[in-house]
Amino acid sequence: MVNQPFILVVEDDKPVRNLIVLTLESQKYRQIAVETGGAAVLASLSHQPDIMILDLGLPDLDGVEIIKKTRTWSQMPIIVVSSRSDDADKIEALDAGADDYLTKPFSVDELLARIRVALRRVQFMQEHGSSNESMFENGKLKIDFAAGCVFIAEEEIHLSPIEYKLLCLLAHNVGKVLTHNLILKEIWQNTLPNDTPSLRVYMATLRKKVEPPLGQKLIQTHVGIGYRMMKLEEKE
Ligand code: CA
Repeated sequence: MVNQPFILVVEDDKPVRNLIVLTLESQKYRQIAVETGGAAVLASLSHQPDIMILDLGLPDLDGVEIIKKTRTWSQMPIIVVSSRSDDADKIEALDAGADDYLTKPFSVDELLARIRVALRRVQFMQEHGSSNESMFENGKLKIDFAAGCVFIAEEEIHLSPIEYKLLCLLAHNVGKVLTHNLILKEIWQNTLPNDTPSLRVYMATLRKKVEPPLGQKLIQTHVGIGYRMMKLEEKE
């Protein structure tokens, strides 16, 4: 990003909105704050922000509807803010195309951490587009899609076909939280086993093969929700 990141804040609760805006200003992020879903849709069209921070409970439109609408023209990261502790709402928002979520009440540090993750995703998308690049690189991890090979620091890692598919799916969505349902659907297609326990086992073996040679955490677990591949900081 050449300019300071531009962030759209959608929140009808004034104290929370003010907290978010002040936090963004403290980091010199540019921002625009709106109170309704209608205003959010307009602002995201006219201002083309880099990131949207979206409260799910708005007076006019449902947050999930806003995500679906926005996804018809924009891939910008959407961080959902929800006071509802129910995971089902977050899962619905993630499946509709949100990238991440924050549960109220959240700390300023948490908010900033999520924004940094989203900004790394923006940067990644700007550098690599939505393109069908044949090579994926994240820190020392390399996936050669054409050859179907995975390397860490130039050393080939041997994965089972399902582990490889999982890694590719996470890589194509680096920085984004993928729900169990989405992963099960993508990897097992129509034979959806609705089988989160076996997904957990595959994820554990994938991690064991990838994270020790990387020497850092690559895949985040979101308990009851799903998984995310982190965009790793570039290393020397
Ligand atoms: Ca609200």
